[in-house]
Amino acid sequence: MSVQKNSSPEKTGQEKFSRLLEPLDLGFTQLRNRVIMGSMHTGLEELSMERQAAFFARRAAGGVGLIITGGIATSREGGLGPGSSGMFTEKDAEHHRVVTSAVHASGGKIVMQALHAGRQSFHTEMLAPSAKQSPIYPFAPRAMTEDDIERELGNWANAARLAKLAGYDGVEIMGSEGYLLNQFLTTRGNERDDKWGGTYENRMRFPLEVVRRIREATGTDFIIVYRLSMMDLVPDGQSLEEVLTFAKRIEAEGVNIINTGIGWHEAKIPTIATMVPRAAFSWITRKIKDVVSIPVAASNRINMPSVAEDILVSGDADLVSMARPMLADPDWVNKAAANREEEINTCIACNQACLDHTFQLRLSSCLVNPQACNETELVYIKTDKPKKIAVVGAGPAGLSFATVAGERGHQVTLFDADTKIGGQFNIAKQIPGKEEFHETIRYFDVMLGKHGVRKMLGRRVSAHDLAAFDEVVLATGIVPRKLDIPGLDHASVMSYLDVLRDKKPVGKRVAIIGAGGIGVDTAEYLTHDAHHKSASLDIPTFLREWGIDPEFAARGGIAGVQEQVEASPREVYLLQRKTKKITGPGKTTGWIHREALLKKKVQMLTGVSYTQIDDEGLHVSVGDKAMTLKVDTIVLCAGQEPQRELQAALEEMGKKVHLIGGADVAAELDAKRAIDQGARLAAII
Ligand code: FAD
Ligand code: NAP
Ligand code: SF4
Repeated sequence: MSVQKNSSPEKTGQEKFSRLLEPLDLGFTQLRNRVIMGSMHTGLEELSMERQAAFFARRAAGGVGLIITGGIATSREGGLGPGSSGMFTEKDAEHHRVVTSAVHASGGKIVMQALHAGRQSFHTEMLAPSAKQSPIYPFAPRAMTEDDIERELGNWANAARLAKLAGYDGVEIMGSEGYLLNQFLTTRGNERDDKWGGTYENRMRFPLEVVRRIREATGTDFIIVYRLSMMDLVPDGQSLEEVLTFAKRIEAEGVNIINTGIGWHEAKIPTIATMVPRAAFSWITRKIKDVVSIPVAASNRINMPSVAEDILVSGDADLVSMARPMLADPDWVNKAAANREEEINTCIACNQACLDHTFQLRLSSCLVNPQACNETELVYIKTDKPKKIAVVGAGPAGLSFATVAGERGHQVTLFDADTKIGGQFNIAKQIPGKEEFHETIRYFDVMLGKHGVRKMLGRRVSAHDLAAFDEVVLATGIVPRKLDIPGLDHASVMSYLDVLRDKKPVGKRVAIIGAGGIGVDTAEYLTHDAHHKSASLDIPTFLREWGIDPEFAARGGIAGVQEQVEASPREVYLLQRKTKKITGPGKTTGWIHREALLKKKVQMLTGVSYTQIDDEGLHVSVGDKAMTLKVDTIVLCAGQEPQRELQAALEEMGKKVHLIGGADVAAELDAKRAIDQGARLAAII
């Protein structure tokens, strides 16, 4: 992974990113550069059009060439759930005007994503080509009748006509991720034996008709983007030949831009999470680009300008589409253009505040940028009463506080016992698949300098050192929880800090006590050989480990392909007391961690009681069964307690003390809460 530290002094941003910043002429309209903000459902769609307008306008002001909204249903049956935002009537179109006007006033262009979810929805009125239930959705759909088909075609055209009325510059037809149009194209979703199913020619009929009717309803001066599933990554997905055929046919029907979609939601392969290498799928986009003459956009794990520029220069694509990176930094394009790449707040692909929230029906935001989707709620205003503030702890909470308080004009001094900033992120960044965490530390370091925060590193501070400050923020993090298991002082026992931070030697047979986020990450670390490349840093390794066919000779990109995973250098047990299945903590990423550990043959035991540790190993009972795990190392990953050693002494001195991050509450602490809490305190102090 290239961690951007310095911008090239000899080139301007315009020169360095000349392809990325090159305008794109679509004939009837121009895009100011090659950056598309991809579609994301944030929850603002249903919450407030005014907040949605502020959210998009901020990204337009930040230089994005073309914004695509979150999915807007073309019919009630096509919505993602009951009450999903839709474009059905002229009143709906009127409702959207505030968004399009705000984006246009900020110099941007915006298209509405038109979506029909088909069987991938959370309501009972679902329609699909066939009555086949998706394995990951709770209800079975009803097979569409001929009348349904005709009505839904009319609804697609109507939604696009209304989008034009609302002031949108175009629509994106959502044709990937396993939604309705994608279902029609595959035998996985379409088992019809009428003119809408059977041969590929018949399976293409519905999506082609959608394009034709939308073009007819909106005229020639309206952008049509088609989000095309280029590799379905599911059994019975499309073949490469079919995808290429379809791409040529939608071009002929008047699509202006083809955007990349990779994998159905029900695919068992990660496509956007942080363990996916950057630009892992642009080689597939290239295959489409080679057979059409309209512009084609690459997507998935593109998060920095140099990555995007390389894709364009290599000829894999004509545009790049990024969704989450625009949550993380609305000024992404302007910073690239000004050669300030190192100031970009990089999306680390954690999904923790965006996709995880969507799946929990919560408003999205961003772990590294709590202002995302809170543009009108979390505002950093210059202070007219600058204070001298000490921040103790340069982990995510302290860094977030210090940079925002500095930006607002306070005089901030940041202390840390460590010689470098980052706190636990310095540990997290070495876990295979978490290399992006380097970028967050780099970003904060640059921002500390920019906002005049004084760094005092390499010394553990005492209350006495802080006497001269008006206020003190304690962001001192956590200490590992102490356990009470007989034999805990045995030489085989260590904490995750001994392993991950202090690199103490670990044996060949290991038991990990605690299977929370840190236990899972420690298992990941111990099952990787340090000499082998992490799959997250190497596309061929990633494709091999997840069984993706780099030639796309196989249907869906996976049929008949064997996964090849490097064997673990250790035998690892991952243990927890709870009886529930062990996964990683993320709603949308937990399954990936579980799959990855299973591939490494990690033995996950639940419902465990810890009895004793001695020379034989770890004695446990699982349910009623007593057993001895003959391990030579036992790693404790059993949670954390707040570290507040300075609080009492400071309060005795009469100092105003604020607690943030782990120092405040250690239970269920993560970087999302630490950064959010730091920023929110700094916004009002
Ligand atoms: P910390 O990061 O613990 O920082 C506290 C800082 O205070 C430290 O640098 C310490 O040196 C300093 N300090 C303490 N006392 C003093 C003193 N007296 N004087 C000077 N300095 C002092 N979270 C996620 O959200 N997503 C993840 O994927 C994720 N992965 C993780 C993986 C691993 C392996 C680990 C260990 C953690 C991970 N976390 C993750 C958790 C995340 O890193 C923490 O929630 C976050 O770092 C807490 O931030 P904080 O600022 O409260 O504390
Ligand atoms: P955690 O998530 O609270 O997990 C602690 C683990 O220890 C649990 O498995 C718990 O399960 C076990 N445990 C708790 N008390 C115990 C006891 N007295 N004896 C034995 N086992 C005990 O904490 P963590 O793993 O230290 O992670 C800290 C924070 O960082 C978490 O909030 C986590 O979400 C965050 N983090 C996030 C990620 C991510 O990818 N998003 C990655 C790493 C860390 P049982 O009680 O069932 O045994
Ligand atoms: Fe990216 Fe994580 Fe922010 Fe989502 S929450 S936009 S994945 S950094």
